[in-house]
Amino acid sequence: MPISTDVVIIGAGPAGLFQVFELGLLDIHAHVVDSLPRVGGQCAELYPDKPIYDIPAYPVIGAQQLIDRLLEQIKPFEPQFHLGQAVTRLEPQPNGRFHLVTTRGTEFDAATVIIAAGLGAFQPRKLRAPGAEDFNDRNIHYQIGDAAQLAGKNIIILGGGDSALDWTLELYDKAASLTLVHRRVEYRAQPASVKKMRKLAAAGELIEFHGMVREVIAQDGEFRGLRVADDKGGIHDLEADDVYVFWGLSPNLGPIADWSLEIEKRQLRVDTEQFQTSLPGIFAVGDINTYPGKKKLILSGFHEAALAAFGVQKHIDPGKRVFLQYTTTSPIMHKRLGLESAPQKDDMAKPE
Ligand code: FAD
Repeated sequence: MPISTDVVIIGAGPAGLFQVFELGLLDIHAHVVDSLPRVGGQCAELYPDKPIYDIPAYPVIGAQQLIDRLLEQIKPFEPQFHLGQAVTRLEPQPNGRFHLVTTRGTEFDAATVIIAAGLGAFQPRKLRAPGAEDFNDRNIHYQIGDAAQLAGKNIIILGGGDSALDWTLELYDKAASLTLVHRRVEYRAQPASVKKMRKLAAAGELIEFHGMVREVIAQDGEFRGLRVADDKGGIHDLEADDVYVFWGLSPNLGPIADWSLEIEKRQLRVDTEQFQTSLPGIFAVGDINTYPGKKKLILSGFHEAALAAFGVQKHIDPGKRVFLQYTTTSPIMHKRLGLESAPQKDDMAKPE
């Protein structure tokens, strides 16, 4: 049975998270889906430790810290998260509702949808060398499910970031052989991990190799390994049973482009009154939308989320008159925020 709900929010970046809050103030509960296994969108995925200087009332805040604060702020509204799954289908129904399906088979029957999908769903960067397509998800993998299954295998890990180095250190003594291939001598991973890996390479526990993958080696349709060029142009054949690629994630608009919504330069066109797309009942906030003067800033996403919430309210219950209420003084808002009574001075944020 599909989950029946007033709203599905696609994307748990800063815009999607703040959307939960703005809907919650109007007493609307939301389900939130994200293709990544954790919330936070670009902030958590691309720059968690970087400081942000243009969030109102925070002269400076770390990107992950901002996400943690948003999660704290939306807690009273108990959003239901469906992580690690991308929404692939969004179909309008004859009764005006929407049917959504995710990559894990979760189905929703929603009155409205808010697309807060940023630059698109984050997906692993693929190995595109000649011959790779034949072995994607057979011998060439982009994640490790059960590390125990790699025991006794000859494996190659591609990458120079934390995931590549963490898995190298985890697997070198379980695999029959492990070769770490990175295109240059410098790594993006934690210096301590790099130091440890180099020590193990010097002791012959694993192989560290610098070069670029040229092609996949196959024989009689069976995977044999990778042909790799070193930085002096020398060609080396590295034999392996399996390859694990950790080249990071790149965003992909993917299925959103097929949902018959008006698109301009890979963004969804919206109005600026309620941030509704070309299909009534489907709204879009944050980096995914476009309108005259649009700026891809977190601040813009927050403003859009506030107005989209009123748009959703109007779509769900067109006859209802909704009055703007201040969170400081409205008893209804206090109730929705889970406050017993008006907040006291002591409840308010203290300097950190
Ligand atoms: P995102 O953060 O992109 O989140 C979208 C989420 O939707 C993702 O998690 C994605 O996995 C998910 N998704 C997409 N498609 C699907 C699907 N089909 N199914 C399920 N999930 C899906 N902005 C500022 O205001 N100030 C700054 O200082 C600043 N610094 C930045 C520094 C860097 C290095 C970068 C890269 C960006 C910076 N930005 C900054 C921009 C800011 O991060 C974005 O504007 C913001 O993240 C947009 O938020 P969002 O919620 O719209 O989208």
